[in-house]
Amino acid sequence: MMGVSMKAIKLLPGTTNVRCSEHEEPQIRAADEVKLRVLEVGICGTDRELAAGGRASAPPGEEELILGHEMLGEVVEVGENVLLFKKGDLAVVTVRRSCNECDLCIKGFPDFCVSEHYKERGIKGLHGFQSTWVVDHEKFLVKIPHSLRSCGVLCEPMSVIEKAIDELLVIQKTRLPLWANQEEYKNKQVLVVGLGPLGLLACVILRLRAFKVYAMDIVSRESNRVKIAEEIGGTYIDGREIKHRDFSSKYGQMDIIVEATGVASLAYSILDTLGVNGGAVFTGIPEPHGTFEIEGAYLMNHLVLKNQVLLGSVNAGQRYWELALVDLENAKKKWGKTIEKLITSRVPYDQFKELFLSKHADEIKVVITWQ
Ligand SMILES: [Zn+2]
Ligand SMILES: [Zn+2]
Repeated sequence: MMGVSMKAIKLLPGTTNVRCSEHEEPQIRAADEVKLRVLEVGICGTDRELAAGGRASAPPGEEELILGHEMLGEVVEVGENVLLFKKGDLAVVTVRRSCNECDLCIKGFPDFCVSEHYKERGIKGLHGFQSTWVVDHEKFLVKIPHSLRSCGVLCEPMSVIEKAIDELLVIQKTRLPLWANQEEYKNKQVLVVGLGPLGLLACVILRLRAFKVYAMDIVSRESNRVKIAEEIGGTYIDGREIKHRDFSSKYGQMDIIVEATGVASLAYSILDTLGVNGGAVFTGIPEPHGTFEIEGAYLMNHLVLKNQVLLGSVNAGQRYWELALVDLENAKKKWGKTIEKLITSRVPYDQFKELFLSKHADEIKVVITWQ
């Protein structure tokens, strides 16, 4: 029997066929489940990749996948064993779920899944959040204070970049004595490459920890991206105006590089700005094919002789969602409405069409509203 239906934005995986249509409304079926009214869902490069015919998969036995993995919702109903949530609370639902096969998933770290049989809501084998209602187990929810109603939808992308930065800092703190003292961070230089949502959120996290932040992109100084980076104390570098080899003489050596462009040739070539004992983390995801030239021997020579670390990072475990929440709160306290400027437009769900296909030049984060 078909239950009550709701609206949902669905994709036929492997095609560009995205539509808003009816879908059975999810109901609480276990005592630890929570039902949320979806308020907002962000769109990112992953959604556009899926909607362009990319790597999406529908839940078993279904043809279509409900899109959306960056959500903010309001609790409307809780199962009888739910402890931490009540009606009216704001919450976000996390994305990745255990494969139930590998040791890391079983120990509660599906972001490090070894089998690659993990599932992800809105991406791989589980419906996402672009719908009127969402139900999930309490343990997959993170409570959001009402003070973050305006930017809580950034929690998912924030969690991803929190993980990347934290992993790099843990490595640096473990091997380099001075890094254990956070006071030292104000003497350390960071280069953030790419000022999309992840890059700008990286600037936020690193400025909160007092690093000297250089923010690089190839946009005009009048761009919103540059203004946000500067408002939080970053220094903008227009990548079109400087050669990498001149970089160190002008800005000195970088102690950390956070790459957030997904442009592989740039990611490797920028490594020559990394200094002695420096660490770089790649977070962008390029198409996995194509070739280009890099000065491989030069970069490897530096990697070894300068004790450098190169790291890749994706997705985020529960603790990074909690870290994201703390940093969003701190960012709001420190810089007021600046953090909200990352959300450049809000579009009602029934006008979603073009959003998945094209991207406006000034867009940073676009959010679909469901209420
Ligand atoms: Zn995303
Ligand atoms: Zn696994």
